[in-house]
Amino acid sequence: MIVRQTKPTSALIVVHESPIHGRGVFAARRIAAGKRIIEYLGERIAPVEGEKRYDDDGVDHPHVLLFTVDEHTVIDGGSGGNEAIYINHSCEPNCEAVDDDGRIYIEALRDIKAGEELTYDYQLERPGRYLASWKERYRCRCGAPTCRGTMLAPRNGKSAD
Ligand SMILES: [Zn+2]
Repeated sequence: MIVRQTKPTSALIVVHESPIHGRGVFAARRIAAGKRIIEYLGERIAPVEGEKRYDDDGVDHPHVLLFTVDEHTVIDGGSGGNEAIYINHSCEPNCEAVDDDGRIYIEALRDIKAGEELTYDYQLERPGRYLASWKERYRCRCGAPTCRGTMLAPRNGKSAD
C-alpha cells in the first residue's frame, strides 16, 4: 500500500513513532478543547468496495484505514489520505471524529498538552458475524483502565470475545 502525503503538515500536529502502535500523531503545541484538528481524507467508496480492498487477513491491521461515514460510504484513508490515518485508536481518547455533512473531522475532546498523542475511538464496523480471528486482528493496546480490548464498535453490549 502506498500512502501519499501531498497535504502540508498542519502546524498543530506531528507524526512520529507511537508507544501504542506504529506511527502516531502528536500535538505539536497545546490544542484547546473543541479545536478542529484535521480532516480525515481519502477516497470515498461504498462499504462493499472497502471490504473487498481490505479483506485480506494476511495483511496487518489494514481495515483501520477505512472510516465509516454511513451505510453508503466509507473513506479509504489508504487512497489519497493524509496524516489522519496515523491517529491511533484509544478506548479513552482525547479526540473524537465528528461528521460535518458527510465530511469527517478529528476534534479535541479536551485540552491537549504539547507532545500528547492524539487518539479517538475507532468504533470499527465490520459486517457479518464476529470471526475468532478478529480478536487478535483488532486487539486494542491503548492501555487505558477502561480499555474494552478491541478497536471494533460494541454491538448490542456484546464484546468481540
Ligand atoms: Zn483500548
